[in-house]
Amino acid sequence: EPVKNSAVIPTESTSDSNKSTSTQKPKVQKPFVLIGGGTASYAAAKAIKEKDPLANVIIIAEEAQAPYMRPPLSKELWFSEDPKVTQTLVFKDWQGHERETIYQDASLYEVLQDAAGSDTPSEKVKLLLNKRVVKLNIDTHTVTLDDGSEIYYNKVLLATGGSPKKFPGVQDANVTTFRSIEDFKLLDSKAKEGAHIAVVGGGFLGSELAVALAHRAEKQNIKVTQVFPEEGNMANVFPTYLTKWTTSKVRDLGVDVKSNKSIKSINSGKDGKVVLDLGDEKLSVDHVVVAIGLEPRVDLARQAGLEIDEKRAGVVVNAELEARSDVFAAGDVVSFHDVQLGRRRIEHHDHAVLSGRHAGENMIGGSKPFTHQSMFWSDLGPEIGYEAVGLVDSQLSTVSVWAKATSKDTPAVGAGSEAESPRTAALGSDAPISAAPVSPIQVDLKDEKFGKGLVFYVRDQKIVGLLLFNVFGKVQEARDIINAGYTSDKIDGLLKQFDLHSE
Ligand code: FAD
Ligand code: NAD
Ligand code: NAD
Repeated sequence: EPVKNSAVIPTESTSDSNKSTSTQKPKVQKPFVLIGGGTASYAAAKAIKEKDPLANVIIIAEEAQAPYMRPPLSKELWFSEDPKVTQTLVFKDWQGHERETIYQDASLYEVLQDAAGSDTPSEKVKLLLNKRVVKLNIDTHTVTLDDGSEIYYNKVLLATGGSPKKFPGVQDANVTTFRSIEDFKLLDSKAKEGAHIAVVGGGFLGSELAVALAHRAEKQNIKVTQVFPEEGNMANVFPTYLTKWTTSKVRDLGVDVKSNKSIKSINSGKDGKVVLDLGDEKLSVDHVVVAIGLEPRVDLARQAGLEIDEKRAGVVVNAELEARSDVFAAGDVVSFHDVQLGRRRIEHHDHAVLSGRHAGENMIGGSKPFTHQSMFWSDLGPEIGYEAVGLVDSQLSTVSVWAKATSKDTPAVGAGSEAESPRTAALGSDAPISAAPVSPIQVDLKDEKFGKGLVFYVRDQKIVGLLLFNVFGKVQEARDIINAGYTSDKIDGLLKQFDLHSE
């Protein structure tokens, strides 16, 4: 039964409000409505509360959980030794500290059951869970919920993230996507003794999950197959030789990587099996995780008449992260102008934190342009960890510099194999270079366990991206390089600060 809750208009925030007195209208705090319960909304809520602890901040989230971070769902949680990890959701971070996936417990919010309560004062951030915003009404400064009720906003943030892409027409309970805590729990329950799991997709998510499942396969009898159309893991980001080397590492970890394979069809088979048709072979598995990219959720913005960047599928905002007066956007869903690199949309955690926080600051009265240069990272098992800043797209030309890695250069110490090294790859346009004065150390391949190096991405002679491969603690240096807009002939001189050869 829809609850029709007439939106309460606060006296201080509409254009004609200075004419009316507060006598007929209830006195309410200006509501800051944050649509979406992810990292961008959480960061915005914190920023608003830091500026004004009494601010009326309402997070509306379709999910049942209080805001949480997604990165551990495909990495750290799978490496936990705690058999109860699916309940605790506690993981060890890179420094060995125990952390919670959920940012803060629901009890620390003012949990609302419905739109009523949106205008009562509270020092806590308000949290309205299990509710979807179905409409953004710019003229009336309201949002409509799926129960029919409306909430007035003074300022609103679109932080709706995205939905995982699916194969159209495939409906099988054993074919799932992966984005939420629920998805983590489900895959955990499927990845049990005797299971054969196929991961479709060779990007961030597919590669991380394949490696995570392979780790479980060290102790349990699980088979992991990864299928994707590219030449190797992370081919859309890494130069070709690094993709090949990384793929060999992922295979060493126990993943049966089927590269250069596209899915012709996915069908339900006998006894709950799922059959993947790869053209030249059919693969029968117990479960399929589809990790083929993200569809940003721009429907609310589109319906409200906001400008959509169709090329990048994002909500267009100005330098202040505002799409229209009082309407902001942040996180995966925003298409923003990067002063250095031009228009961009970024699907990474740190960007959600930085843009969410920045939008929050501007919603509560700031007017600063968004100039933060975000980073991202990924780990693929014990031997490969990388961080990056700027545009890292394998379509760009690249210049790479490699040095011998030591056990200290990896996210964790692992037994190295002697797989093909980046430095032995055939020389192509993106082949690694040796750069003076700090040229890569010449080492015998048999001594080399894994690569440690830098990949510079170049567009119109300018350095636009930097990948730090098993090089840690240098994100700020990378950021400074991107922000300075150096040309690629400066690369040699820039290498010193990365201590590539320190032991
Ligand atoms: P989301 O986190 O997607 O949050 C959006 C929220 O809005 C969702 O809860 C959704 O339910 C809700 N919502 C949407 N529409 C509505 C509506 N109409 N009404 C109500 N609620 C709505 N990035 C990294 O940099 N490093 C990593 O290691 C990394 N690992 C990842 C691992 C996984 C498994 C996944 C899925 C992502 C990972 N990412 C990583 C990416 C990172 O998590 C995202 O970039 C980030 O979550 C984006 O935050 P967001 O707040 O924009 O969107
Ligand atoms: P945060 O609080 O924003 O992190 C949230 C989550 O992201 C946590 O799970 C954290 O462990 C994870 N995370 C952040 N950066 C990561 C990275 N580079 N690799 C793996 N996981 C990462 O940020 P934080 O945890 O306080 O990290 C702050 C800084 O520390 C980051 O900018 C990062 O460069 C650096 N860091 C380095 C490593 C490494 O492998 N040497 C790992 C984590 C963080
Ligand atoms: P992605 O864009 O990184 O990779 C998409 C992959 O899908 C491609 O590499 C390709 O192999 C595959 N693909 C596309 N169409 C296909 C098809 N028809 N058949 C088979 N394969 C196909 O997206 P993702 O890996 O699905 O990740 C989902 C989201 O989560 C992204 O926003 C990503 O940035 C985010 N994420 C980020 C991290 C990180 O930053 N470390 C980790 C996990 C997830």
